[in-house]
Formats: sequence, structure tokens, C-alpha cells
Amino acid sequence: MCGIIGYCGNKAAKPVLLDGLKRLEYRGYDSAGLAVADSNKLAVIRAVGKVCDLEKKGIARPLPGHYGIAHTRWATHGRPSEENAHPHCDCQEKIAIVHNGIIENYLDLKEELLAKKHVFKSETDSEVVAHLIEEYYSGDLEMAVLKTVQRLEGTFGIAAIHADNDSQVVIVKRGSPIIIGVGENEYFAASDANALLPYTQKIISLNDDEMAVLHAAGYHIKNLNNEFLQKEIEICENRDALADKKGFEHFMLKEIFEQPESIENAFRGRLIESEGVSKLGGLEPVKERLKSLKKIVIVSCGTSYYAGLLGRYIFESLSELHVEVEVASEFRYRKLKIDKNTAVLALSQSGETADTLAAIREAKRKGALILGIVNVVGSAIAQITDAGVYNHAGPEFGVASTKIYTSQLVILTLMALLIGRYQGISYAEGSEVIQAIKKLPRQVKKILTDMEHIKKIALDYAQYKDFLFIGRLFNYPTAMEGALKLKEISYIHAEGYPAGEMKHGPISLIDEQFPTVAIVSRDCTFEKMLSNIQEIKARSGRVLAVASQGSSRIGDICDDVIWVPETLPILQPVLNIIPLQLFAYFIARHKGCDIDKPRNLAKSVTVE
Ligand code: GLU
Repeated sequence: MCGIIGYCGNKAAKPVLLDGLKRLEYRGYDSAGLAVADSNKLAVIRAVGKVCDLEKKGIARPLPGHYGIAHTRWATHGRPSEENAHPHCDCQEKIAIVHNGIIENYLDLKEELLAKKHVFKSETDSEVVAHLIEEYYSGDLEMAVLKTVQRLEGTFGIAAIHADNDSQVVIVKRGSPIIIGVGENEYFAASDANALLPYTQKIISLNDDEMAVLHAAGYHIKNLNNEFLQKEIEICENRDALADKKGFEHFMLKEIFEQPESIENAFRGRLIESEGVSKLGGLEPVKERLKSLKKIVIVSCGTSYYAGLLGRYIFESLSELHVEVEVASEFRYRKLKIDKNTAVLALSQSGETADTLAAIREAKRKGALILGIVNVVGSAIAQITDAGVYNHAGPEFGVASTKIYTSQLVILTLMALLIGRYQGISYAEGSEVIQAIKKLPRQVKKILTDMEHIKKIALDYAQYKDFLFIGRLFNYPTAMEGALKLKEISYIHAEGYPAGEMKHGPISLIDEQFPTVAIVSRDCTFEKMLSNIQEIKARSGRVLAVASQGSSRIGDICDDVIWVPETLPILQPVLNIIPLQLFAYFIARHKGCDIDKPRNLAKSVTVE
């Protein structure tokens, strides 16, 4: 969530910081700021809105300093405003800090600091960090940060500078990502390696409760016991070319169109056709435990939660496992019934989702086998899990997830196939699934060629203020995800519902101004779906269907239809969501919304 950049070296810091912030913009934020130190003074610039607004404010100020820190904020404590934007300073305005995450004990600390006559200028939790450092500072920023961090509860990535400690940036991590970038006579800090790619590919990751001091001549890393640590430099592949929209108007559209490839990447090298089974190298170390598994609990948030709901149906179809699915932020507070025959499976694009991380930590404590499906290699969730599978889908920049969702569905199917083949599904059934998976990229391409038709329909529906999305069985989570896509990027009210539940409440909303998107496949729920659509039509509701090709009766009763190719019911959601992603995209575009960075949302949600 949001971002941090730090720099010290021989360049002027301001342009490097601004450039880094622009590369972090995709993570979502509401305000931004930077601090540069020079001649024992700090210059701080902050702005509400976009990094370009910050840039405009800073343009007239020369700021020659060679070290500084910068931040994009996603407000948790205090509204998005200039005073609440980071960096925050101490009373003397010598220390500046930026912080991602939440300081949970900030009220206690603030009370203590107020009693010592510190003056606070913001409503944030973060500001206590600057004042605590001031309390502990006696000429050594590193020690002051160390002592400060020992007082903090919650999650944080922090970067701090002091106007008198020439060319020194101190960073520390607990729960929120922050890495070191190693350049030639220059050092960087960033919450995401992407931000540093024009400058260096040499990266050092920090674990929780580790800190680093970057200075003009080098760096060192310590733990919070003040012991020095040696860490390997990793070479981060140059993904900069990928951070380009490749001619598409938005990352979201580019990512929708990347799905034939990302789906193929999800199963490439992972199918053993001759045995009707999948091969997931990342699960090999826990193979024996998988054989005796009785229960799987899927934990995730947002779009990944809807992938998890589908995961339940997929595992139930292909294996004997008892499956539960839970929103991660709820799961961690429940009285968990977990034993060694239970696996907890975390789904997360970023691998940094704070709620999901907290949930699997709790499950690990209770002895569950922890599995993961994540996209970002080496991320916190990838490190905590006992075993897992990477999406290999390339970076996803659009805040509204598209290609990771479909990739998750394919990998869930591969996992269910692997476990199911230990438990009873036959070679023939396994082979059928494999053949259907292999056809998916071509089928997705076919839907994408229908873009103009989908766009036309979307524009025709763009006038409405409310939408109902309905489906049954596999199409129920698809309805939820379709509604989520529409609301997150177009700000239109949309509800996803199991179609059978409609008559127990939502049907009272239906009239000419409240259209329904019905997702209909030719599975065992087909006839029931037709009845539900009839019920809506009988109340003057307009119905758009996303339906499997060949179901001619749908065409007769619905106002509009988007046809999709047919596959096995467990894989149909991979295809059915594609038109709904495009539908949301074109409505949001028509409304002039900021599609890749919708208001109030962040890409990688690192606060609970
Ligand atoms: N909790 C802090 C604030 O509201 C930091 C938020 C963030 O991670 O950007 O300012």
C-alpha cells in the first residue's frame, strides 16, 4: 500500500525521489510528500492529490540536497490533507520520517510525548515516530531510531533522515515492505523494487525487525538487538519494460488482454498429460502431508476472496477435502479448529496483504500446513508459507485485479487436481480437466475479439446508478467479482448475489432503472437461472446475460447477451469473468474515472 522512497548519493535527491514516487503511483494513494536535507536544514514539500501536484509545488524550489525521503500516503489515521501527508517532522524540524502501516499504540505514545511538551501538527499515527526519535536523539540517528522502534506496536516501513546527519537515511521494517537498492556510490530505499529499476537492479530485502543505515559511502544492516547482519544482494530482473502500457490506454485494459498469456503461464510446465495430473514444484516439499490432508481453509481478501470462493467449488469437485473459505480479516479472530491434517491456503497478488499475512501467522501458530498462491516472488507471504505456487503472471499495475484472478483460478484447479488424484478422481477425469485447461488461452482470446460488442453494450448500460449481478454455483462468485469490478473502478453501486437468494430480498429493488447482469452456464443450474431471469423480467427489470454459446433460450428472454465459449463447469468462471472485466472497464472509461488508480483504493493493502 502507498509507498516510500529514500535516496542518498551524489545526485540531487529531489528528482530521484519524484521519479521514484511516480513509479509507485500504481499502488494507490491520496497525498504525497518529500523531504530533502541540505546545509543542516530540512526542506519539506507536501501535497494532496497526485505526485504531479507535488512536483508542481516543488518546481520553484531548487533543493540541492543529496539525501532525502519521499512518500505516497494512503490515509488510515486522519483525512487526506496537506498537514497529514508525510514526511512528518519533530519539533525542531531537524528530523523527517515517512511511514507506511499503522502504529497501533500511537495514542499512548502521543500522550506521553504531549506531556513532554512535544507539539503535534497532524492527526496521523505516524507523527509520534518523528517526536520519539527526537526524544532519543543525541547525535546518532541510528540509535535513536532503534530505541524508537522498540517502543512501537503495529506494522511499519519507516525511513528517517536528520538534517545534521549528513547523507544518512535510516530505514526499518516490520510488516510493511521496504528494501535497499545498491547503486554506484548511491543507495536507495523503496517499498517496491519497481521504483528503483532505472537506477539499480541490485536489491537487498529486509526481514521484519531489521533496519539499515544508508550513507554516501555504503550501508550496514542490523537487527533490533543492535547486531550487524550480512545479507545477500539479489539481482532484480529488469521489469521496467513491463511497466509500460504497450499502447493500451490503461494498465487494466493491457492486463485484461494479457490473460491468454498469464493463464498459459499459470499452467505451463505444470501438467503431466500422460498421468492426468498436475505437477507443482513448489508443493513437492509437502507432498506427503498433502496426501493425508482432510481439510483446506482458503483465506484471502477482495478479488482473491472471490477466487477463494470458487476454489471451494473446484476443490469439492475434484477432491474429497472439506473446504472452508474465509475473509482473512475475519479468520484470524475466530476460534480456529485446525490440526495437522488441515492446510490453510493464502491467496494474494502482492504477497504483502496484511490481513492475509496475519491470518496465516495465526494458523501457523495452531500447527496448520500453510500454503500460498502469490504473484510477487519473495514477498512476505511467500516467505511464511511452508510451500506454494507462484502465478508468474508478471506485475499487475491496475488496482482492480484482472489477470491475477484468472491465474489464481487456474492454479487452484491445478492444486485440486494434484490432491484429487491422490484421493479418488480417475485418470480420465484428470485428463478431461487438463484438456480443458489447455484450451483456455484460445477461448479467452476469442472473447477478447468480441471487445467492440461488449463495449457497445457497456455504453448502453453506463447510464444506470445501480446494478444487480446474479449467478448460481460457479457463477455466484463470478457475480460477486463482476459487481466488485464495476463498483471499484466506476463507483457505481453494484451487488453480487446468489440468484436463488434474489427472491429473499434484492428483488424488491428491481424496476426499469435497476438492471441485472445474469451469468448463465449450461450446467445443473441452467433451468433455475432461466426462472430467476423471468422473475426479473416480470418486474420490468432489464437483463444482460453472460451466457454459454448455444443456449438459445437465453437470447429469447434477455434484453442483451454476451456469448462466451463453453468449457467444464469448474473452469467456466475463467471465461465468464472476462466480459465482466471489459464491461466495468468501458463504463468507468465512459464516466472518465481514474481506472488504474481508483479513489480510496490501494494496490497492495499492507494495513489491517
Ligand atoms: N497510518 C499512516 C497515516 O495514516 C500511514 C498510512 C500509509 O501507510 O500511507 O498517515
